[in-house]
Amino acid sequence: MSDLSRPQGPKIVAVANQKGGVGKTTTTINLAAALAEEGLQVLVIDLDPQGNASTGLGIDLDDREFTTYELLLEDIDLKNVILPTETRGLSIVPATVDLSSADLELLTNEKRSFLLHDALRQTQMDQFAFDYILIDCPPSLNLLTVNAMIASHSVLVPLQSEFFALEGLSQLMLTIREVRQAGNKDLRIEGVVLTMYDRRNNLSQQVEADARQNLGDLVFRTMIPRNVRVSEAPSFAMPVLSYDSQSKGAIAYRELARELLKNNKIEAKEVQHVE
Ligand code: ADP
Ligand code: MG
Repeated sequence: MSDLSRPQGPKIVAVANQKGGVGKTTTTINLAAALAEEGLQVLVIDLDPQGNASTGLGIDLDDREFTTYELLLEDIDLKNVILPTETRGLSIVPATVDLSSADLELLTNEKRSFLLHDALRQTQMDQFAFDYILIDCPPSLNLLTVNAMIASHSVLVPLQSEFFALEGLSQLMLTIREVRQAGNKDLRIEGVVLTMYDRRNNLSQQVEADARQNLGDLVFRTMIPRNVRVSEAPSFAMPVLSYDSQSKGAIAYRELARELLKNNKIEAKEVQHVE
């Protein structure tokens, strides 16, 4: 087993919120791309059977022979399951619908909550020298999400700037507390990021005010605006940072990456692009 305290080990972040459609996958893909743009080595784990992160990062179904399912439940050579993407420095473990049965299969497994934790900490992982691992969670607080939280150093929560945005947060916080008790006592909340924010909309402003009042410093300064380029990018199988580099969405995700790095006090490495 790999040394958990090794200083160069990856920082592992679960992107979670049991509500669907709040921007988990969009944030995972684009924050990962923004971190990679900073010169970091980044891995996305697609932990949602819908496989939206895999599609959004350009991994065809035909190329998903080995997936998160095998990573969790089989002894697999990591080289077969970690796939490069078109974005330099950004890799992914893809998912397919197979993963939906994993939730049930895990129930009978003694180590059911620790499978992702153990998979990410095998020594074989060191050769990839990842700086960040972002886990795109399913829209549920099921065993897959618990696996993500047990495996992670922190949880990043996208919050859609919509009515009832904060509803359900207490349940999420409860799950985080349970995971701390179940074996990941140092699990932190990385922060809450407001997504699909519309400055001209009173409701967005109200949600922001509520979130900042209730959650204080946990809320990132950076907010992700509602931006049509962000929603178009996945159908072109790329992060918005590549699809439209100067769009408001791309700029916001770069800002979020810098805020995260500043919070984590990791100096962004020199980007070594040779275009
Ligand atoms: P989740 O993974 O939480 O289910 P998604 O990331 O798939 O949520 O986002 C839900 C929908 O909202 C998708 O169609 C996505 O393209 C769209 N979306 C997400 N963020 C933005 C944004 N900033 N601007 C416009 N559309 C967005
Ligand atoms: Mg999703």
